[in-house]
Amino acid sequence: MSFQDLKLIEPILKALKHEGYTTPTPIQEQSIPIILNRKDLLGCAQTGTGKTAAFAIPILQILHADKVQNPTSKAIKTLILTPTRELAIQIDESFAAYGRHTGLKHLVIFGGVSQHHQVEALKRGIDILVATPGRLLDLVQQKFVHLDQIKILVLDEADRMLDMGFVNDVRKVIAKLPFKRQTLFFSATMPKEIQALADSILNSPEKVEV
Ligand code: AMP
Repeated sequence: MSFQDLKLIEPILKALKHEGYTTPTPIQEQSIPIILNRKDLLGCAQTGTGKTAAFAIPILQILHADKVQNPTSKAIKTLILTPTRELAIQIDESFAAYGRHTGLKHLVIFGGVSQHHQVEALKRGIDILVATPGRLLDLVQQKFVHLDQIKILVLDEADRMLDMGFVNDVRKVIAKLPFKRQTLFFSATMPKEIQALADSILNSPEKVEV
């Protein structure tokens, strides 16, 4: 199977070529059609499997189509929650790479640094926000981030979020999102608490395991 077979649009195919990607990895092959069909997804996958591209590529394609219909909207459309600053930066870099020809704007926010630059970028308007839960809640409480237009939520490395004690923050964030949305949930392991969290936020998810 090729990326063309996954019905990806030219701006994304061009970016993947630039990255030197020739064939989708198994998680990409399975997840991309599900996400493009606007279904919820429960993915059991480790880092290193190509998981980030498995959600970033179809999200970029969906948002690019929306942007053509509504080019002036400045609202955040997609939120990616991830446990650590390092992961957040990596995911943001992936959106930059695969989305280089889409014109979509992305931003990464995390704690431990001044919020000034993050707030300035938020004011300019962004399509995709990659965040760690604590800083996100801070900025939501200060009304610098509005989550009422989110169409797609990604929870990345959910088991690590649990281990790091972020589950309450994650639940607080989710409570602020529109009920009608697409949710993509990734975890390397599926202990009982993670399965319970997944059950409580996913709507008839398709399952993918690699
Ligand atoms: P991840 O599992 O998202 O951390 O990705 C692991 C690594 O695989 C990253 O360095 C990606 O750039 C790379 N990668 C992801 N998808 C592909 C692909 N289809 N072909 C080649 N490399 C890829």
